Order: sequence, then structure tokens, then C-alpha cells
Amino acid sequence: MLIEELTRTLEQFIRESPQNYVGEETALEPTDAGNRLFDAPLVKVGDAHDPMWTEMKHPKAVGPLFRTPEEWLPGAVSVVSYFAPFSDFVVEGNKKDPTAVGNGWLYARVEGQAFLNDVNHFLERWLQDRGYRAFSPYSSPDFQSVFEAGTNPDIADKRLSFTSNWSERHVAYVCGLGTFSLSKGLITERGVSGRFGSVITDASLPVTQRPYTGLYDYCSMCGACVRRCPAAAITLEHGKSHHRCSRYCSLMRMKYAPRFGCGKCQVGVPCERGIPRTDTTPKRQ
Ligand code: SF4
Ligand code: SF4
Repeated sequence: MLIEELTRTLEQFIRESPQNYVGEETALEPTDAGNRLFDAPLVKVGDAHDPMWTEMKHPKAVGPLFRTPEEWLPGAVSVVSYFAPFSDFVVEGNKKDPTAVGNGWLYARVEGQAFLNDVNHFLERWLQDRGYRAFSPYSSPDFQSVFEAGTNPDIADKRLSFTSNWSERHVAYVCGLGTFSLSKGLITERGVSGRFGSVITDASLPVTQRPYTGLYDYCSMCGACVRRCPAAAITLEHGKSHHRCSRYCSLMRMKYAPRFGCGKCQVGVPCERGIPRTDTTPKRQ
């Protein structure tokens, strides 16, 4: 079947691409060279006409900037969403020093994200070669995001902040990959440490039945990420403050330029590599 072939091909592409490994010329330390950034991906499929896409336009979801699959690709039928888990090199390296970002995490956030753009384009080409239309919003020139209100000169509405016209985490939620967490990551069956990508297509693929109904079903609300955050940006009462987090990440940008990152809330926590136990803790609504 097409989706099984696509998944196998994607796994092979990620495993064999040189961009998925730290290069000698870019390594911050010689021993980093050759280490892998991403493990094998998880792949799920959403229905391009799922009513939940329109719900993403709500200000409490992604916001009015969000475009549905049909708005990106008229005639869209399916959305392929994947989670690329960070390797042990990336995750373990970010646990060692609570005051410093691990080298692996820095590579994964910058070179790794550039690689995932290539992965998205690879998926587009793979589907197009089989006669389908395919489009990756995040990796297109039309992708738009607003970091803090007023920071995007192309978007006139100064009330918008921390929003975008395509959010990979929200897309992953709709496609059945996982649920949100207190730290505002997305917890998948392989945990929260990793990155997401997606492609919209007119290929008819078997839709994944979401194994959850609540936004936070997979988060145990254990509070470990609250204690890990160096910026005090997460609380059990209010979740994550994007403003506090982004202020801290701006400092990390200055410290590690041209790379950046933090991710302390995604390592050394029960949801790092899987779904934590949630049967004894109350759900957040
Ligand atoms: S560390 Fe605990 S509270 Fe924080 S996101 Fe993970 S499961 Fe949820
Ligand atoms: S990325 Fe860093 S600053 Fe932001 S919430 Fe996570 S631990 Fe806190």
C-alpha cells in the first residue's frame, strides 16, 4: 500500500541522508562528528476534510491566520504528518548541564530543522513522482509565523502573536500523532523530544483514527517540566508562558549564535521518550 511504501521510504531517507549526521566541518567538538540527529519517524495520516482543521482558526487554537489543507491545496484529500524523534546523542547531551544547551540539541534545532525541510520536499517529490499533487506549507515560501505581536512586517494585525498559518504540532494532533503537554510540546508514543513535519496531498491514504479525545490526554501533569525549566516559564496552574520562554530562548540565541535552543522541559521528564502514566492523575481540560 502507498502509505506503507511512503513510510519505508521516509525511514530510509532519514537514516541514510548525510544531513542527518553532524558533519566534521560543522561540529563544535571533534567527537560530535558523525552523530545522528533523528531516529526513525512515526507517520500518521489525517483527513483533509476533518472539521477539526477549521477549529484550528479559533484564537485559542492556532488562530485566524491558520489555513486549512483545502486552502493550501485545493482538492486536498489527505495530510501526512510525521514525528522525527531526536536521537540519544541529542537528548542525553541536553541533560548533562542544566545551565548549558547540549551541542546535539543546538545542531538538531538548526541543521536538523533545515534537514526536515529537505525531508518535506522529498515527500512532495515522492508523491508527485507517483502522479499526485503534494505540498508542504511549512517548507513553502508562503509559510508565515508571528513570534511576538508586530514582529512580522507582512502581517498587519498587531494583535497576533505566537501564531502561524500552519502549525506542525496542531497538524500532528489532528492526524493522530499525539496530544499536547503542559510544556506545550506534543507527546507522541515515542515521547515529546523531537520535531514534526507534514505534507498535504490529493492521494487517498488510510486515515489514522485518533486514539484520544482530549487536548492533554497524554500529559500526566506531573510537573517535572516545571522544575526543569530554567526560565520559570511553566506552571501547573497556567501551563507555559510563551513570552517567558521566548525571552529565555533569545538569550540562548545570543549565547550560541548562529545556533539556538533550550529544550530542558523535554529531557529528563517522564514524557521524554513515551506516553507517561496518566491513569492516576487528573486531566487538564
Ligand atoms: S513533564 Fe509531566 S507535566 Fe510536563 S509535559 Fe511531561 S508529562 Fe506533562
Ligand atoms: S524551552 Fe526552555 S525556557 Fe522554554 S519552556 Fe522549555 S525549558 Fe522553559
